[in-house]
Amino acid sequence: MNQLVLVVNSGSSSIKYQLVDVGTGDALAGGLVERIGEGGEGSLRHDGPAGRTERTQPVPDHEAGVRAVLDLFEEVGPSLTAGGLTAVGHRVVQGGDRFTEPVLVDDQVEAAIADLSPLAPLHNPPNLAGIRAARHAFPDLPHVAVFDTAFHHTLPDAARTYAIDREVARAHGIRRYGFHGTSHAYVARRTAELLGKDPADVNLIVAHLGNGASITAVRGGESVETSMGLTPLEGLVMGTRSGDVDPAVIFHLQRVAGMSTDDIDALLNRRSGMLGLAGANDLRDIHDAIEAGDGDARLALDVYCHRLKHYIGAYYAILGTVDAIAFTAGVGENDDVVRELSLAGLDRLGITVDPDRNAGRKKADTVVSPDGAEVTVLVVPTNEELEIARQAVAVASA
Ligand code: ADP
Repeated sequence: MNQLVLVVNSGSSSIKYQLVDVGTGDALAGGLVERIGEGGEGSLRHDGPAGRTERTQPVPDHEAGVRAVLDLFEEVGPSLTAGGLTAVGHRVVQGGDRFTEPVLVDDQVEAAIADLSPLAPLHNPPNLAGIRAARHAFPDLPHVAVFDTAFHHTLPDAARTYAIDREVARAHGIRRYGFHGTSHAYVARRTAELLGKDPADVNLIVAHLGNGASITAVRGGESVETSMGLTPLEGLVMGTRSGDVDPAVIFHLQRVAGMSTDDIDALLNRRSGMLGLAGANDLRDIHDAIEAGDGDARLALDVYCHRLKHYIGAYYAILGTVDAIAFTAGVGENDDVVRELSLAGLDRLGITVDPDRNAGRKKADTVVSPDGAEVTVLVVPTNEELEIARQAVAVASA
């Protein structure tokens, strides 16, 4: 029997959704509602069996956004009411110490997600708004929350602990949580499969390079180190986030530039990274600018790849031996220059890239290292929606 799951990823002003057939792994439909609650018209895009439907209409809140999505499904298909949904899967960014696995949502779970909002103020509240609206729309279906942090609950204490006063850290839940867990879990499992090995028998480095970016060391199927920390701001250089900076940069900006906490939050999360260095967050624009001779764009790419290499070396050391390095998400799958530069010069570690195999964008799983390389380098397109759908079915049918 088909097991259909509606996967919902609800952001502050957007709802991304996909209808997934867990049996075949296919996405039957999907789309995006944007500009929710921004005053003007919201925009809707739905891709289904009848092709693409686009429209604008007022979408004052997430409740209205979910209703608009359901209307689209009924109007242009596939019908959700007729199709027999098994469950609704919800992406939730921060699960804290409480949620180390996906859970069936009830009122207590909703309250706990709300309680975790101080740790993820930009993400958990809109995630919860999406859950509430969808539970309202489908009161009789199981709703499953799948947490970005859950895959990283295996981080050893030495990796998850910040060296700050332990009482302060304990009182405020300050530790490294890690994010993008759904993607890292999916890609790690798929990579082991492609190597023809049991996940328990391999050591992997997974680089999820999208607009947000993180890298994870996976030993025997478990996350043992990851670059994002208390929040998704730590680690790699990202589209608009700085990644690692000396924390004293913040005090300096407060004291010397008179910036407020919110100003600095916005600076580091939304106006830094590639956007801050080169004026564009999209790597395609960075490459175009480099072609045109833009030195800032050149430096931005160098900083990006330097940081990535720094982490790859660190995670090699953490793991001791590495069977494979997998690149995924928008940059990881499409940007051959980033893959090449971040691994350049690592031959002594058994890491090499075959230029012909590496060239171009990869729409499917592809090995880009030469035959017989000590470390297999691959591109493995991520599929967070399928992973959420699978986990939702597993929880709903348990
Ligand atoms: P998100 O992190 O928002 O889920 P994606 O994983 O889709 O997004 O990554 C989006 C990013 O992927 C873009 O900002 C861009 O930097 C990068 N990207 C997409 N296509 C290409 C391409 N052809 N070449 C280089 N980078 C690309």
